[in-house]
This record gives sequence, structure tokens and C-alpha cells, in this order.
Amino acid sequence: MAQIRIEKVRKDFGGFTAVRSSSFTVEDGEFFMLLGPSGCGKTTTLRMMAGLDLPTSGQIYIDGEEVGQKRARQRDIAFVFQMFALYPHMSVEGNIAYPLRSQGMPRREIRETVAEVARILGIADILTKPVGGLSGGDRQRVALGRAIVRKPKAFFMDEPLGALDAEFREHMAEELRALHDRMGATTVYVTHDQLEAMQMGDKIVVMNHGEVEQFGVPQDIYDWPATMFVAGFIGSPPMNFLSYEGTAPPGTTEVALGHSRFGIPELREGCSGELALGVRPEHVRLDDASDYRARVVAVEYLGTTQIVTLRTGHGDIKARVLGDTLVREGETTGLSLDARTLTLFDRKSGRALRSAASERVLAHG
Ligand code: ATP
Repeated sequence: MAQIRIEKVRKDFGGFTAVRSSSFTVEDGEFFMLLGPSGCGKTTTLRMMAGLDLPTSGQIYIDGEEVGQKRARQRDIAFVFQMFALYPHMSVEGNIAYPLRSQGMPRREIRETVAEVARILGIADILTKPVGGLSGGDRQRVALGRAIVRKPKAFFMDEPLGALDAEFREHMAEELRALHDRMGATTVYVTHDQLEAMQMGDKIVVMNHGEVEQFGVPQDIYDWPATMFVAGFIGSPPMNFLSYEGTAPPGTTEVALGHSRFGIPELREGCSGELALGVRPEHVRLDDASDYRARVVAVEYLGTTQIVTLRTGHGDIKARVLGDTLVREGETTGLSLDARTLTLFDRKSGRALRSAASERVLAHG
């Protein structure tokens, strides 16, 4: 079990800064996701937390002990890579037992420990088989078995499901999460897939260009994104932005888009110039009573819901409406927005303005 804290961690490769100044804490027993687009510095951050790379500057603590300059083998952790390297000529049992043999554990204890791990992973019936002939899923389980058998303080996983097809990936994601809940070991997991991060994570760090954009529980990040990047990266379709120029001092409770007014949660900080009103697709309603008009430019039917693309005077936005809503391409409709859920952004910095609704989340962001 372990709490892992990183403070102002930076990593330079020659003149290139891969991680700028990252700070966050992974609490004991958490399933913690490092999320962001390709090249944002997730793997580099993970490798530094695990001790495979040393930071250029900053501190890393495991259970309060500074380990920044300690290598992985001194940190009592296990790393699970995307391409699981197993010993193909060995049996399942041989592969899982390998780390324990290297530690010099007595044979009887090894047998008992491997049997327990195999039971947890549901592979007790294939212990004597060579791994060479196993299915992808069973190989994955064997590799996990090899990682968990030592009962390390923490697991580090770098896109472990990346190579799997969608259906199997979902199944393995559920298994991994269930395994974590049974074992309770701190797990740090890299993914570029926002859905995977939302489904599996207790907490998420969203990274972009080597910087931490936001850090928190999935629902807070979804509801109250700290930046336009996070708002656009999380959610499918992502958050919409209605762009306008204006002034919004602290205390503002409504904004004007053309001749229409929209209520927003009371602002705790102000901004003027280029602004963007952020709204999730499910909070846009087609409402003929509204004087804010838009033209329907596309309708994507998904069964229980449909995604409607609307052209407004402040940019195109998408609404998620019920599947049986009558809506046709080319028609004009009124729009209303759910005031309680809106976020105003400063377009120049990309930052969300803190409001009465979001300040609990954004205060520490
Ligand atoms: P991906 O999902 O594509 O692996 P990532 O978010 O994990 O992306 P990193 O692998 O951490 O990103 O890489 C961040 C940046 O640092 C990239 O631009 C990468 O090219 C660069 N980088 C990583 N390792 C090295 C290295 N050993 N030497 C030089 N540059 C590196």
C-alpha cells in the first residue's frame, strides 16, 4: 500500500521539456489515471513515479519518503507494460512464480502464493499449460499475475489494454478494476482514452504539452473543467463553446449573446475580451419558447439519443436530445441552456472563470 506524491517534477530530454512542473498526490489504494493526448508526457511522468527515469528536478515521495533519485528496484513497485513480455517456453505457473524464485522464496510458499493469485485471476485451471498457446486474454492475466504475485506497494500500468480490440478491452478493463478493488493496491494507469479514464479511475490527472491541466475525481472534471482543453478533451461529443466578446465582472449572473440572455452560476472572478460560454451537449435544449435561434445542420441518430448539430451566431454547437425528438436538418429552432451547468472561459488564457458552482473544484486546480 502506498501514497505517492509528486511535487514540481520536471523532465528535460536535451533541450526538450517533456514534463514541465507536475504536482499531484495519489492516495493509498487509489486507481489513478494519467490521461492526455499522445506526446503530452504521461509515460514520462509514470516512468519517473516508478523510478525507471529520474526527474531533472522536483521531488517524488512514496509514503512520505523521498525516492526521486532511487531506481525502480529500490521502490517495491510493479510495472505492467503494453506489450506483456512472458517466457513462452515456461508454463503459466512458471511465469507467475518467476519473480518469487528470483527473490529466493521457499518452494512451498511459492506454490501457495501462485495458487492464490491464479484463483484471483480465474486461471487456476491452466497453471500447467505453456503460455505460448494461450489466448490474448489469458496471456494478459498471466502477465498481471506475474505483476501482483510479489504484492508490491504500487502498480504502474502504461496503456496495458492498448493492443486489444474494443469489446475485449472493455471486458479486461472491468476485470482490472475488479482486481484492484479486491487487492486495494495503489495503481497508476496511463491512457489516452478519456472513456477508459472516466470508467476506471478514482481520480484523473489530465495532461497537455507536459503540464497538468486538471486533477480530481472524474465527475468534477467532467462537470467543472478547469480549462478549455479539458472541456474539449473529456466528453463525447465534448463541451461546446459559444464565443463572444464582452465584459463579465465578478458577481455576474447572466451573459448576453446577441439579444438573448442566459443565466450562469454567479462568477467569483471576472474577465473581459474574448469569452466562451461552455455547455455540455446534454444541457442544450431545443426550445421554441427561446428567442436564441439556431439552424439544424446535422442530425445523428443513435437510438435512445440523437446528436443535433446547430449553427448559432456564436459558432456551431451539438445538442444531445432524446431519440424520439422530432428534429429535421435545415429547420430553425430556439435553444435554451441549463444555467446551473454553464462555465465561462477566458479564451485568451483558456482558463475557466471560477463561479459559485465551480469554486469547490477549481479552488485547488
Ligand atoms: P504516448 O501516448 O504517445 O506515449 P505520452 O503522453 O506518454 O504519449 P511521452 O512518451 O511521455 O508522451 O513523451 C512526451 C514527449 O517526450 C514526446 O514528445 C516524446 O517524443 C518525448 N520523449 C519521451 N522520451 C524521450 C527520450 N528518451 N528522449 C527524447 N525525447 C523523449
